Amino acid sequence: MIDVTIIGAGVIGSAIARELSRYDLDVLVLEKESDVCEGTSKANSGIVHSGYDAKPGTLKARFNVEGNKLIHELSKTLDFPFKENGSLVLALEEEGRKGIEELLERGKANGVPGLRILEKEELLGLEPNVSETAVCALYAPTGGIVCPFNMTIAFAENAADNGVMFRFDTKVNSIGKKTSDNGEAYYVLDTTGGSFETKTVINAAGVYSDVFHNMVSEDKIHINPRKGQYLLMDKAAGELVKSTLFQLPSKLGKGVLVTPTVHGNLMVGPTAEGIEDPEDTSTTSEGLDLLAQKGALSVKALPRLTITSFAGLRAHEDGGDFVIGEVKDSPGFIDAAGIESPGLTAAPAIGAYVAGIVKDILKASEKKEFISVRKGIPSMALATPEEREALIASDPSYAHVICRCELVTEGEIKNAINRTLGARTVDGIKRRTRAGMGRCQTGFCLARTIPLLAQALGVDEEQIRKSGKGAYYIEGKIKDNL
Ligand SMILES: Cc1cc2nc3c(=O)[nH]c(=O)nc-3n(C[C@H](O)[C@H](O)[C@H](O)COP(=O)(O)OP(=O)(O)OC[C@H]3O[C@@H](n4cnc5c(N)ncnc54)[C@H](O)[C@@H]3O)c2cc1C
Repeated sequence: MIDVTIIGAGVIGSAIARELSRYDLDVLVLEKESDVCEGTSKANSGIVHSGYDAKPGTLKARFNVEGNKLIHELSKTLDFPFKENGSLVLALEEEGRKGIEELLERGKANGVPGLRILEKEELLGLEPNVSETAVCALYAPTGGIVCPFNMTIAFAENAADNGVMFRFDTKVNSIGKKTSDNGEAYYVLDTTGGSFETKTVINAAGVYSDVFHNMVSEDKIHINPRKGQYLLMDKAAGELVKSTLFQLPSKLGKGVLVTPTVHGNLMVGPTAEGIEDPEDTSTTSEGLDLLAQKGALSVKALPRLTITSFAGLRAHEDGGDFVIGEVKDSPGFIDAAGIESPGLTAAPAIGAYVAGIVKDILKASEKKEFISVRKGIPSMALATPEEREALIASDPSYAHVICRCELVTEGEIKNAINRTLGARTVDGIKRRTRAGMGRCQTGFCLARTIPLLAQALGVDEEQIRKSGKGAYYIEGKIKDNL
């Protein structure tokens, strides 16, 4: 029997897996998609919130502030891109000043360090391209930006290096609650890859976390998916602002953010739309137009340099807070449910908290040989001339450029495929190396990435997928029909 089974390899499941891998436990992660980070964790703002937004006393407030601190440290030990660029909440009219003061007080109550209000002159000194209509702003110096894919992948890789097993393309269909001969509860998970008996279950299934909770508990929860669409702009727009600019909600609506990404693009978003279908990540022309209009309120001139758009789904639980902890009527079943924003920021803190619950239930002891450090894929784009030379000397394929927009080489792609939990799809390569993330959006590099992946996996090019099941690029070769 497995000690712990985690449903979902998003940032929450992966962070929990990493923390559990400190203990002498058999841990299994079941993920219905073909890779880590295929759900909401891949489609969000990538902001490491400082923690002024959540209501004091909530789980959101607690885990946001703790998570922010942890990400500052973990970005170094687990080697993922993070930048403390600071964030600003703009009041775009005088009436907003009161709201800014309230946020300041809330942030102080949550224990957020360094918060202060900037008046217009200081604001324009910090961000010369901020809109002239901005009256004042709340400045949060500990706000940051992170690569959500790399952070999630880093947690998962480190967990796997410490013995956690990951099963992809394995969908959990149902959970049966059982009692053993000695009266202890255990669970049987029926999946597309067989059935698994497990002493404890961690429900980290994102927008589906209510489904699993409700399979084992009489005390029902309900997730309402809320879609957020984004515009991602070319790196030529990336230096428009240094900080993340939020808008104070006003009579004009909730507002959107304008932010640089940690890789140097500019992003505008998200919309907030209640939807029925938890798979609906479509973007719409109305949504994207709205973003362009709202984003233009924060800055003097918002460039029209969009290279792609995407949408993510918030797992909003009706109670409005995260649902975390052992379910009362199901011993050993632990929720990490309803993890909407600031879930990315909160992930490492939630990971440590949930792992602590499991440790106590199973009376687990710490591993002596826990590997706390992980090294990411070297980036030729960011390397110094000396580092580039050393990489090329170690493997000449680091001199062979595959993605010219983002300067990604064959050596990096091979590394992405061959490492722990390596890429098995084109999106897997993209998220690990940035090949295809640039201006041409795979237009030039796809024809090179597919053969590299096919060769490394020992399969035909026809079998290479974009991401999930059935997303094949090549239907057949025209010359085969001649
Ligand atoms: C628009 C938007 C913007 C956001 N911006 C920010 C931000 O800037 N900062 C921040 O801190 N947070 C942000 N968030 C929140 C953050 O992205 C989420 O809290 C976080 O990604 C949730 O992670 P998760 O692991 O719970 O969910 P997911 O990433 O969705 O992972 C759940 C996993 O469970 C798997 N799964 C589901 N059902 C099954 C099944 N039956 N069998 C097996 N596997 C299953 C899914 O495939 C998925 O991989 C944002 C969210 C959205 C939507």
